Amino acid sequence: MSELADALRDVAQTLRHHRDLGMTEITRAASATPPPPAVDPAKALAAQEAALQGCTLCKLCHSRTNIAFGSGSPRARLMVVGEGPGEEEDKQGKPFVGRAGQLLTKMLESVGFDRERDAYIANVVKCRPERNRNPEPDEVAACNPFLMAQLDTVRPAVILALGNFAVQTLLGTREGITKLRGRLYEYRDSVLVPTFHPAFLLRNPGPEYRRMAWDDLKLARREFDRLSAAPPPNSLP
Ligand code: URA
Repeated sequence: MSELADALRDVAQTLRHHRDLGMTEITRAASATPPPPAVDPAKALAAQEAALQGCTLCKLCHSRTNIAFGSGSPRARLMVVGEGPGEEEDKQGKPFVGRAGQLLTKMLESVGFDRERDAYIANVVKCRPERNRNPEPDEVAACNPFLMAQLDTVRPAVILALGNFAVQTLLGTREGITKLRGRLYEYRDSVLVPTFHPAFLLRNPGPEYRRMAWDDLKLARREFDRLSAAPPPNSLP
């Protein structure tokens, strides 16, 4: 109740301010969600990365060497979301540059994507958890605004979410990847395609898992092609 009272007081104050400025009426916007301003996604991402330097918002700042913010094309229509940096990513300050990253590159190439040209790659958390443990809820919460800012900037048509952690974080579910994969999900303005994490595929040699991942990649490719027929939302006037 007190939050509502505070909010109403703020609205009243804003209206009085507008009246004092000489406004006599409030026009309703033509659309409930006005189009976002045209931004240069490369500049926006560079600013977000710069703002993250020296971050101490969570305890992962103690275990990291470098922040692995993101890589690839800022205007990509495909965004890949993983879990968090591993050892090699921590050293280089870039996502997916270790063994799992090499497999990811091949997975993307298998359906005709070049990871630098066609994709923007990021993780749920940008700093390496020690001994590659799962990120903890407070760490995910602290890093979430940065992932959301990346998604809002790149505005991908398709999100390829890798593994339990990324899919569960984005979709807000506890359901496992095996149940979630094989289908499309609406996620903000994008279509989300869940698939197995390449690190899992490296650990689990069963051909059936690779076959399922291949099906997911083909699904992502099909959606990418279908949605690419529309003009990209990031095109500058
Ligand atoms: N695993 C991830 O989830 N992300 C990386 O960047 C590397 C490995």
